[in-house]
Amino acid sequence: RERAREILETVKDRDETRLGVEAMELLDAYGIETPAGDIVDDPADALEVAEDIDGNVVMKIVSPDILHKSDIGGVKVGVENEDVYDAYEDLITRAKNYQPDANILGVQVQEMVNLDDGVETIVGMNRDPQFGPLMMFGLGGIFVEILEDTTFRVAPVSETEAEDMTKEIDAAPMLRGARGNDPVDIGGITETIQRLSQLVTDFPAILELDINPLVALPDGVKAVDVRLTVD
Ligand code: ADP
Ligand code: MG
Repeated sequence: RERAREILETVKDRDETRLGVEAMELLDAYGIETPAGDIVDDPADALEVAEDIDGNVVMKIVSPDILHKSDIGGVKVGVENEDVYDAYEDLITRAKNYQPDANILGVQVQEMVNLDDGVETIVGMNRDPQFGPLMMFGLGGIFVEILEDTTFRVAPVSETEAEDMTKEIDAAPMLRGARGNDPVDIGGITETIQRLSQLVTDFPAILELDINPLVALPDGVKAVDVRLTVD
């Protein structure tokens, strides 16, 4: 919690409302697992990070001006080490083409999560003028807006409430192992909902927060993309 406070203070001092680099650290401070990796601002550093990660990596543009990275080709999945330089330059070019004066913080190099074994979910929070902090859980990934398979509870949520959320969505059978797939770590999901609920309860300055996707795997969960807005 102290670490989270420090992270949020830093951001406040810089007068940035959308956290870039710090968003992942904030989750980490609350015990929510994120993929290995880092955010860098030159290709040589990107390669160094990629070399420290087993297998291919995912590379993403990091900019407070680009909300939906994949919409502008700002997410590259399965990048081999020998392609890291090109991928880096291409991501920057795409961002500048999209918005020439975009504030580009760098490129995130991430461990690749095996989506074949997992389910992309979303865990989020919005402050409702009437109800206060509303936790949201649903099916995630890039189709979340289309499917609208979500459920809500007011934070702080209890363990039972968090469990109920995982049972309520239409896609619940997918979490429990449909079509011969292994069930995913539902305990990991409920824990993540609760930890996030605690984070936004501790810090009212967090106005909005989304983990999308939280990839739920048979043996754990990973917060692959996070976006948040602070007061
Ligand atoms: P955005 O939501 O801004 O487009 P994301 O970081 O959520 O960007 O990436 C978009 C999609 O790319 C994710 O929903 C997921 O399917 C895939 N993806 C992103 N990061 C990873 C990763 N580390 N491992 C595997 N797939 C990923
Ligand atoms: Mg996303």
